[in-house]
Amino acid sequence: TLDFAAKLARRLGVNVREEVVHAVDGVDLAIRRGEVVGLVGESGCGKSTLGRMIAGILPPSDGVILSHGRDLRSLDGPEARRVKLATQMIFQDPYASLNPRLKVEEIVGEAPLVHGLVRRGDLAGYVDEQLRRAGLDPALKKRYPHQFSGGQRQRIGIARALAVQPDFLVCDEAVAALDVSIQAQILNLFMKLRKELDLTYLFISHDLGVVEHLSDRVVIMYLGRVVEEAPAEEVFRSPNHPYTQALLAEVPRIDTRKRSFAGVQGEIPSPLHPPSGCHFHPRCPHAMERCKLERPALKAIAPGRRSACHLNDMV
Ligand code: SF4
Ligand code: MG
Repeated sequence: TLDFAAKLARRLGVNVREEVVHAVDGVDLAIRRGEVVGLVGESGCGKSTLGRMIAGILPPSDGVILSHGRDLRSLDGPEARRVKLATQMIFQDPYASLNPRLKVEEIVGEAPLVHGLVRRGDLAGYVDEQLRRAGLDPALKKRYPHQFSGGQRQRIGIARALAVQPDFLVCDEAVAALDVSIQAQILNLFMKLRKELDLTYLFISHDLGVVEHLSDRVVIMYLGRVVEEAPAEEVFRSPNHPYTQALLAEVPRIDTRKRSFAGVQGEIPSPLHPPSGCHFHPRCPHAMERCKLERPALKAIAPGRRSACHLNDMV
C-alpha cells in the first residue's frame, strides 16, 4: 500500500550559524499512489524542507526516502535519473526558476529533449501538447517569461514539469503568490491534471483553506514534527490536535458555521530553541504540566488518524 513515496526522515540536520536545527524531526510519512496529501503548517515548521527531501532535492542527514519502494540513495545511472524525473516540484515563484532569456518553447522543451523523452523532430508538437495541458495557448510559445502574468507563469512552470512525464508533483506554496481568483484556476488545473495523468500530489501550504478542497489526506506539522494526520474531511469536521483546531479557526468561511476554537495565539518559537516537551505548549490553551516535560507521541486515535497530544490519553 505504501507504493508511492514512503519516507522516514529522522532528524534532518541543517547548519545555521554553527547551530544544528532539526528542521524535520522523526517524521514518518507514506504517500500512496494517486493520493493527494496536503502538508500544512506555519512558515518555518519544516514543511518545505520535508517537501524537498521527498522530491529528492535535499538528502536527509539521517533516515531514508523511499520512492516506489526503492531507497533514493541506492539508485544511480539511468534508473536514478528516471526516478528523479518522476517527481517534480512546483514552487511559489515560478518566475525565479524560469530562465528569462529562454522562450517558453525552450523552457518546456529542454528537459524532455535532453533526457531523450522526445525526438527533436517531434519536439514542437510535444511542447504544444504540454502547453495546452497546462491551459496555455501554444501560439504564445515564442514569447519570454516576462511577457506573461503570474498565473500564466505558474502554468509555464507546470507545463515544464509535465514535459518530463512525472507521476508525482510536490507543490510548495504553488498558489500562495497569486490573486485569489487565479489561485482557484490553478488549483482546478492541478485537479484536472490529476485525473488526466493519474498524478499523485504532495500539496504544501501554510493555508489550511487552500488544501481543503484538494486533499484526500492532511498532515499538520508544527516545528518540525507531524502533530496530526487524518483524512481531509475529518480534519475539517473534527480536528483533534489543539494546533489544528487553532489553524482551522483562521480559515475564512462564507458559511455561518459556528467557530468553537480561537486562532493560533502568540508567535512561532525559534526552531533553533524549540520549547521542551510538546513544542506547542507555550501557545496551547489546554497545556498541562506534563506538556512541558514530555513529548507526546504521534498515536493512532481512530482508523487512518493519528495525533500527538497528551489530551488523547485522558479520554
Ligand atoms: Fe496542548 Fe499538551 Fe496537547 Fe501539546 S500535548 S497540544 S500542549 S494539550
Ligand atoms: Mg516554505
